[in-house]
Amino acid sequence: MEIYFDNAATTRPCKEAVEAITRCLTETYGNPSSLHGVGLAAQLVMDEARKTIAGAIGASAEEILFTSGATESTAIALHGIAHTYGRHNRRIITTTVEHASVRETCNHLEEEGFEVVRIRPREDGKFDPADFVSAVNDKTCLLTMMLVNNETGTILPVEQVFRAVKRANPKIITHCDAVQGFLKLPFRVSGLQADLLSLSGHKIYAAKGIGALYIRKGVRVSPLIHGGKQEKGLRPGTESVPLIAGMGAAVRIHLPTIAERASAAAELRTYLLERLSSLDEITINSPADGLPYIVNFSVQGIRSEILLHFLEERGISVSSGSACSKGANSGVLGEFGVKPQLADSALRISFCHNNTKTEIDTLIEMIKIGQNTLHRAK
Ligand code: PLP
Repeated sequence: MEIYFDNAATTRPCKEAVEAITRCLTETYGNPSSLHGVGLAAQLVMDEARKTIAGAIGASAEEILFTSGATESTAIALHGIAHTYGRHNRRIITTTVEHASVRETCNHLEEEGFEVVRIRPREDGKFDPADFVSAVNDKTCLLTMMLVNNETGTILPVEQVFRAVKRANPKIITHCDAVQGFLKLPFRVSGLQADLLSLSGHKIYAAKGIGALYIRKGVRVSPLIHGGKQEKGLRPGTESVPLIAGMGAAVRIHLPTIAERASAAAELRTYLLERLSSLDEITINSPADGLPYIVNFSVQGIRSEILLHFLEERGISVSSGSACSKGANSGVLGEFGVKPQLADSALRISFCHNNTKTEIDTLIEMIKIGQNTLHRAK
């Protein structure tokens, strides 16, 4: 028995993505920069995927760059904007709950001499657009904010914040890490008011090692690495056509089913919460109005890693907080008001639409056994 409840860390690639990747490895293997027919065939596959991904977020194909993943997309975005627009305007605004890819890039820019202002959620775990507007001054070049928090599923008010901040200073460039919201929440870049936006393939049933960066037409980004002219010179190097085709296929298949999959996830979440409420000493850390795919909760008195391994030995894969931090407490739960002791015993369940209530029953049964045996072992 294998139960996979860690879809926010990564997903199993869908059949369509695997087939598209295989086709490129075996048939459309050309270099898209080559001038002959074999190269052109690869170029056409890539164009198609670019168009699909652009269409999914309301962008045009020329506004999409392919990268190796969201971490690289974000690095190109933040460094590129800071170095183009930040010569004199050295303030960057972000939040205290970002994924490491944004958090560490902002830390790095701070070391380079940028002033980074980090906005915290209010006591109720919600962000107030007024706090961002207060942080804006005429020296602000960039605001970066995630769409959905990967640890709790909290949906951030990106549209309201970006609109309010641009009203206060229209020159500010906005970047959104939309990794956990893509194909789960419907959004368009124009609605969000995002000038740049990062996406990842492996969170949406495509392969690892592929991502995309949206850059609104007219926004200038200086390159982080130098080389050929691929991806407008912003991501030089031969494109990974197979992985690009896989991402295109995954988007094509999952875009029409956003609402249907979200309601399946909501049903699973409701069931999980109901079943958890039958157990003792459980605290729910995710907000009630969060993304239905992510439920973060603490099993009081048992450290996350202990319960995680107990479940893993019984064929159930879950995560403790953020996967990228390898189980280390990233501090993000604390920012959302979770007390340190509870943060140390937090587990994250993240669904895909194929999970079942029977799997949740098994999880609950195992947590119950874990509570009895692990508590007693202490
Ligand atoms: N941003 C968020 C919110 C994530 O959850 C992740 C992955 O954990 C990333 C960025 C990084 O994505 P990638 O693995 O494609 O670099």
